[in-house]
Amino acid sequence: MGLFELMTRSGHEQLVFCATRPAGLRAIIGIHDTTLGPAIGGTRMYPYACQDDAVEDVLRLSQGMTAKCAASGSNFGGGKVVVWGDPNQDKSEELFRALGLHVQSLGGRFITGTDVGTAAYDFVAASAETGYLVALPEEYGGSGDSSVTTAFGVWKGIKACVEEVTGDPSLRGRTIAVQGLGKVGAKLLGYLCQEGARVTVTDIDPARVRAVGAEHAVETCASDAIYEVPCDVFAPCALGGVLNHKTIPLLRCKAIGGAANNQLAEDRHGDRLHELGIVYAPDYVINAGGLIQVSEEFPRFRRERAMARAAAIYHRLKEIFAISRQEGIPTYKAADLMVKRRLDALAGVARIHVPVRPRTDAD
Ligand code: NAD
Repeated sequence: MGLFELMTRSGHEQLVFCATRPAGLRAIIGIHDTTLGPAIGGTRMYPYACQDDAVEDVLRLSQGMTAKCAASGSNFGGGKVVVWGDPNQDKSEELFRALGLHVQSLGGRFITGTDVGTAAYDFVAASAETGYLVALPEEYGGSGDSSVTTAFGVWKGIKACVEEVTGDPSLRGRTIAVQGLGKVGAKLLGYLCQEGARVTVTDIDPARVRAVGAEHAVETCASDAIYEVPCDVFAPCALGGVLNHKTIPLLRCKAIGGAANNQLAEDRHGDRLHELGIVYAPDYVINAGGLIQVSEEFPRFRRERAMARAAAIYHRLKEIFAISRQEGIPTYKAADLMVKRRLDALAGVARIHVPVRPRTDAD
């Protein structure tokens, strides 16, 4: 399929191919939909097998960002950069400065930061060329570790899940199974234990299990056994694709709410959860805390506001569960419908013409 056909099918506005040969930069900036505001999305660096794989990834990821921005109430559109290269070998100051120049050339239409394969310090070099960056190291003006806000939002989302299945959002005495004790999972565990939940945890890294076991009273299980733990909520905080034809028949939870991206291996697995009566908190809604935090860096970061918006994930999910019940559709479709409604409603506002700034003598 040709590029224009791919872009039309996914509703993309713009793909920007960036090549700066002396710096070794090969990157594609994908801008999906700027109905809500300038596009925002991280920079992924990956050694793609071919150009088509890089194009496919940037289209998929930037489209996902439109949904995440819209569902989280952010006034940003969906974007993403993919850098075609090996993050272990190909990073350099000149590569990130060249990327910064390409981002700057878009004049604020696109804002970026870290993603898989890039780290906050990589963008210090880019910041010499552009101010359209988020998630820089704190000493360079960034807002700091975004997993703090992600974990906080997931905790609030789990409360919405528990309320949906029991009628009460309190986690006291509720049972939660957490898969993955990394940056988000370990912080989430703190909130769950603080509220008196009974938690079972697992991680493929035994050191992480030992570390949280020393701090909190939790049950542990083998990594494969987590799906079968009888619980109110299963919280996937490790990998994508964990809700699939093999794991769904094992589940003994009433609801699913966790940080992992792309939890449903395919849409049909969301349909299956709906048929089984398992409440699924759509991943891009419940894990939007990190995006909320970095989007709050423009124009000036205020942590209280970021946390207040992350807390509102609870209300977003309640809305989605209500749409799911009213329309009789799976929750992942209800979330997509909520996104479409916001985009459609605000597309009407964007049609109002704002006069251009008049010329002055200084021009
Ligand atoms: P992380 O790499 O810090 O932690 C992942 C943890 O999962 C690690 O401890 C790892 O050992 C464990 N793990 C991997 N495979 C496992 C398995 N099969 N069973 C059990 N444990 C396993 O990552 P993170 O930042 O905590 O993010 C967790 C998930 O949430 C990822 O899918 C990430 O994409 C997503 N997410 C993170 C953020 C954020 O702010 N960090 C925001 C949105 C989404």
